[in-house]
Amino acid sequence: MTTQPKKAQYEQRGPVPQDVIHAVDFELPPLQAGQVRVAVLAAPINPSDVLTLTGEYGLLPPLPAVGGNEGVGRILEVGDGVTGLPAGTVVLLPVGCGTWTTHLTLPAKGLVPLPSGVDPVQLSMLTVNPPTALLMLTEFVDLQPGDWVIQNAANSAVGGYLVQLAKLRGINTINVVRRASAIEAVKASGAEHVVVDAEDLPKRVRELVGDVPVKLAIDCVGGVSTENLARCLVEGGTLVNYGAMSGERCMISPRYFVFRDIVLRGFWLSQWFKKAAPDKRMAVFGEIAGLIAEGKLQARIQASYGLDDIREAVAAAASGARDGKIVIEPNGPSRAAI
Ligand code: NDP
Repeated sequence: MTTQPKKAQYEQRGPVPQDVIHAVDFELPPLQAGQVRVAVLAAPINPSDVLTLTGEYGLLPPLPAVGGNEGVGRILEVGDGVTGLPAGTVVLLPVGCGTWTTHLTLPAKGLVPLPSGVDPVQLSMLTVNPPTALLMLTEFVDLQPGDWVIQNAANSAVGGYLVQLAKLRGINTINVVRRASAIEAVKASGAEHVVVDAEDLPKRVRELVGDVPVKLAIDCVGGVSTENLARCLVEGGTLVNYGAMSGERCMISPRYFVFRDIVLRGFWLSQWFKKAAPDKRMAVFGEIAGLIAEGKLQARIQASYGLDDIREAVAAAASGARDGKIVIEPNGPSRAAI
């Protein structure tokens, strides 16, 4: 385990995300009453982390900042007055606390203990992508077993979680990717129907699954891909956008709103966090943590990096055609650790 505390910090934002971040040493502050010291086990690099470094995300922390929005850690030491969280407990790190660091000193209050004996890398991605997939499946359309959903960027982490969660609910998915080389990976995550995006997407979908009524379309690409999905929907269907991986605005002809009564909605997990009642939040995270612990919900990992290689890690995360997530393990490989 690393002894010198280290964090991946940035003092400015810029167009090349890996150019603004670097690893710096720091001193641990004295542990106060009510606090715990945590060794960070694993933290992913999500597209939102990359957009935070470039300054294009909807929520930007003040500078200087430590990268990383989510992750898990193990409690090393507890301050006076802390009960119920003994040293050794694996905990979910609070959202937005700067997780690309070896150590965090955090208030014990509000920390969520996680099941033991579970791969920390899979647990580290619990906060952002799985609830996004679950909520998009459940909050917009009252889907029943046997219903059909279509999504693009299906080889993304969100896409993979959505396939697995839909399957558990008996919901059928049509999975759109932008390159044929991604098809096998999507099938490996449990998807039966995978198709490459194109102008003639509705025809390709009909050839694949027949003329099924698709009630919900889920878009994180934007550009013409948004309209390609809309054209696959049943009359009155709902299209939910939650990202813009193409960097383009959603391009969709008014004809789909006017003649086909298509509804276009947006989803942002941060907004949901703010508005959802605490028991609803607990229910969503409880379901997801349980499924990850049982091995029923997982994401593919392309590579894991230490903090000294943070620039290489960010560059890898920012590039396309990956086969899974890039994760940071600040204290070294953690999979065998619990
Ligand atoms: P991943 O890093 O796992 O995957 C990225 C995906 O984007 C891949 O399918 C990739 O395809 C695709 N992609 C990359 N560049 C382009 C491009 N130029 N045009 C089209 N597709 C592209 O992503 P995540 O699962 O972590 O996140 C997926 C999306 O979900 C992101 O946009 C993210 O911001 C968004 N998100 C939104 C949330 C919300 O609350 N609104 C919450 C969580 C995530 P390829 O492999 O072919 O490069």
